[in-house]
Amino acid sequence: MNGTVAVVGLGPGAAELITPEAQSALDSATDVVGYAPYVQRVVPRPGVRYHTSDNRAELQRAQLALALAAQGRHVAVVSSGDPGVFAMAAAVFEAMEGAPQWQSIPVRVLPGITAMLAAAARAGAPLGHDFCALNLSDNLKPWSLIERRLCAAVSADWVIAMYNPRSRARPEGFGRALGLLRQHCEPQRLVVLARAVYTPQESIRVLPLSEVHADMADMQTLVIVGSRQTRRVASYVYTPRWGG
Ligand code: SAH
Repeated sequence: MNGTVAVVGLGPGAAELITPEAQSALDSATDVVGYAPYVQRVVPRPGVRYHTSDNRAELQRAQLALALAAQGRHVAVVSSGDPGVFAMAAAVFEAMEGAPQWQSIPVRVLPGITAMLAAAARAGAPLGHDFCALNLSDNLKPWSLIERRLCAAVSADWVIAMYNPRSRARPEGFGRALGLLRQHCEPQRLVVLARAVYTPQESIRVLPLSEVHADMADMQTLVIVGSRQTRRVASYVYTPRWGG
């Protein structure tokens, strides 16, 4: 049985942002495993088996991929953006860690363009100096840890890219994060709200912190909070390459 697993990043939305390496893994897969909306982004091929599952079922999905590979299948596990950023690659290794019989299966992680990079490119260059990425979902960690990291990032004056700012199941988190930011940052601090980047529904808004409301973000939004240096030039927003 010489099955394999490729954990593939589909990029933020548009087909042109899928790397040739990722596309070639999709073209040679016998099985595609993933959250339904991501599997739907893969152009179907005859003979390929598609295994879709619910958003929260990451570990079961990873176990399914490894079980299929153990039967000799060539499995592509799909994530949006990059598979290593708050996505399936870590889930595959978590599943492998708990199952010695799967540890000889070759797993390749194929990078993709993560939402933060696509959003930043659309806005200009807000990530031009030091930055960090924070997942605002408290599904897998306590909210107190999110607050602690957010405060640390603000005090270090990093630009902060926020993934999963708000969902129907977690409507209050982004509002709480805004409350914390307002305590520590000046009202004119720039915030980029990048929604559905590289899809037909794309919208990019740049606002001072004082004008940002919690309902401006949803689960398709990537939020970039600027550092003290982040500024506008013409219709762009950028962070200069120096700190301080
Ligand atoms: N692995 C993905 C992130 C998954 S977490 C990646 O690397 O991009 C899901 C979050 O990613 C969303 O809640 C949103 O914050 C962000 N996101 C994914 N696609 C996006 C897009 N096209 N535009 C804006 N944000 C996006």
